[in-house]
Amino acid sequence: MHKKLFIPGPVDVKEDVLEKMATPMIGHRSKEASELQRNISEKLMELMYTKNQIILSTSSGTGLMEGAVRSCTRKKAAVFSVGAFGKRWHEIAEANGVDADLFESQWGEPTTPEMVDQALSTGLYDLVTITHNETSTGIMNPLNEISSVIKKYPEVIFVMDTVSSLGGAKIEVDKWGVDICIASTQKCLGLPAGMAVCSISEKAVNAAKEVKNRGFYFDLLKLYNTIKNKDHQYPSTPSISHMFALDYQLDRIMEEGLDSRFERHLQMAELVRNWAKKNFELFADEKYASNSLTTVKNTRGISVADLNKELAERGFVISNGYGDLKEKTFRIAHMADTPMEDLSALLDNIEDILGL
Ligand SMILES: *Cc1c(COP(=O)(O)O)cnc(C)c1O
Repeated sequence: MHKKLFIPGPVDVKEDVLEKMATPMIGHRSKEASELQRNISEKLMELMYTKNQIILSTSSGTGLMEGAVRSCTRKKAAVFSVGAFGKRWHEIAEANGVDADLFESQWGEPTTPEMVDQALSTGLYDLVTITHNETSTGIMNPLNEISSVIKKYPEVIFVMDTVSSLGGAKIEVDKWGVDICIASTQKCLGLPAGMAVCSISEKAVNAAKEVKNRGFYFDLLKLYNTIKNKDHQYPSTPSISHMFALDYQLDRIMEEGLDSRFERHLQMAELVRNWAKKNFELFADEKYASNSLTTVKNTRGISVADLNKELAERGFVISNGYGDLKEKTFRIAHMADTPMEDLSALLDNIEDILGL
């Protein structure tokens, strides 16, 4: 039996989108490939509210995170972390020999504009990484405020992780001045895992020109130049199957309407948050609660593992807490094309199992 996924990625993929993955192959150096990849880029520019170039990567989102930090840090990166995925930026920097400092908030709390200002005012950093939506804690950072601060430092490259929010929340790349905005396909975009996308500004491209060892596969400058010189083609063979599905899914997203899609994610979030407040507690400050997943504090001391076993028999799966938050919290994702009635059915089943 297929279990409906309420984990924060991968998400369930609509049948018609899945079928697009089975489209017969085309050559990756053909005119059709250029056209397909160009169309996807144009739609992603709309979704990201940007005029910047889009790069598609046959990798998960972490690949582009590595590409961004390695390709564009000239002096030192300031990594702001509100959980496990924030910390990952720092691990990536270390593994690539890129100089970086880690600025951590307590889990459940956001990155504050003051923290960012304080760090950047030292003049030590020329790249900053921010997590828009932290999937380990369920925090959505206050990007209006944070981006205003980063704008005071025009020499700094602003890199943002929107892996678990692009397609589920409004992300205004140009308004916020984001130089590299990264997402994966398997979360709010509602596609199978295996492809990542990012926008890249001219400023980030120019920064990369000053970096000598940018690696090979995730060299953002090489990817950018190939897109420009070969009409949206890539240095190596991309997952054309993902391209077909992504192109189609972006049409579906536009048909739904961006504002309606973001509103629907908010409605799902409100349903789960209200349920959580009634039966448990929210882990994160509600002011910063994520629109794409909710982290619930396990105030009843239930066994999350057992709950998930029983849910599995009924055809559902949720996520335990991340890392140290395992069993202390659990996470319910409300991403992509999850029908509201499925979400309600999940909550009813949890109540039934726990006798709430
Ligand atoms: C899932 C996730 C990642 C990692 O993405 P992959 O596509 O698995 O590489 C990074 N950041 C956030 C916020 C995520 O939710």
